[in-house]
Amino acid sequence: MEPFSYGQAIRRVRAKPGGEERPVVILWKIYMQTIVSKIATGVTAMTMMTAVACAQAAPVFQIQPVKPLATLLPEALRATPPAPRGDERQPDLVELTTLDPDFHLDIRYATSRNILGEPLYSQARAFLERPAAEALVRVLKALRTQGYGLLIFDGYRPWYVTKLFWDATPPDKHMFVADPAQGSVHNRGCAVDLSLYDLKTGQPVEMPSGYDEMTRRAYADYAGGTEAQNAARALLRDAMAREGFTQLPEEWWHFDYRDWRLYPVQNIRFEDIPAK
Ligand SMILES: [Zn+2]
Repeated sequence: MEPFSYGQAIRRVRAKPGGEERPVVILWKIYMQTIVSKIATGVTAMTMMTAVACAQAAPVFQIQPVKPLATLLPEALRATPPAPRGDERQPDLVELTTLDPDFHLDIRYATSRNILGEPLYSQARAFLERPAAEALVRVLKALRTQGYGLLIFDGYRPWYVTKLFWDATPPDKHMFVADPAQGSVHNRGCAVDLSLYDLKTGQPVEMPSGYDEMTRRAYADYAGGTEAQNAARALLRDAMAREGFTQLPEEWWHFDYRDWRLYPVQNIRFEDIPAK
């Protein structure tokens, strides 16, 4: 194991109260899960304090939008998603909480705790295409016998949100966001971001990193977590794999359902999805 690794986040900070927010790159050194030092570039002592707090609280990766979201959102809603091939299945998005009450939600894009620092969904809901949703119910049933439920961070994501991420992100940071010209597996209703919670307490199970943490601790093969954290991650990965979900190597929480190529990119908003 490496003696230490570096984490990185980009966070908006104010140099003084009421001042203009600016993006800064925050780096810190992680040694045996303990943050022992940090290097913040081009920031004041006050910002250094922000950097420490941010690092200790499993940072949310954030960027300063290149234009205000109030300007970008109407443009994204008017834009046209990539054309379907023509041989995709008819979409059939299902709301997870209607299938099983042990799906718990923590929909970050309906809060400010996301990459753009502002709510992007008007509703905190989670949908998947029916076969993926039904496979996820089987995962939940298997984990329930071991005392765990599933905590959902995100499922189907309307295409305009992917477009909004792209347009808001400075071009030199485009590697961190999905290209709207392709559309993502989330846009096809076949990707899910999730973790475990303890059925007895309702509390999230500790994993090697926080959700959407842009550090090596988020990697599926990161070996620096505690034994309990690594075991929880393996339990989730194995239960998901048995039902056809593949974990993304860079994000332990992201899983693609095997049939995702059969579904078109969709752009319907949560509030417009018909109730089933
Ligand atoms: Zn994801």
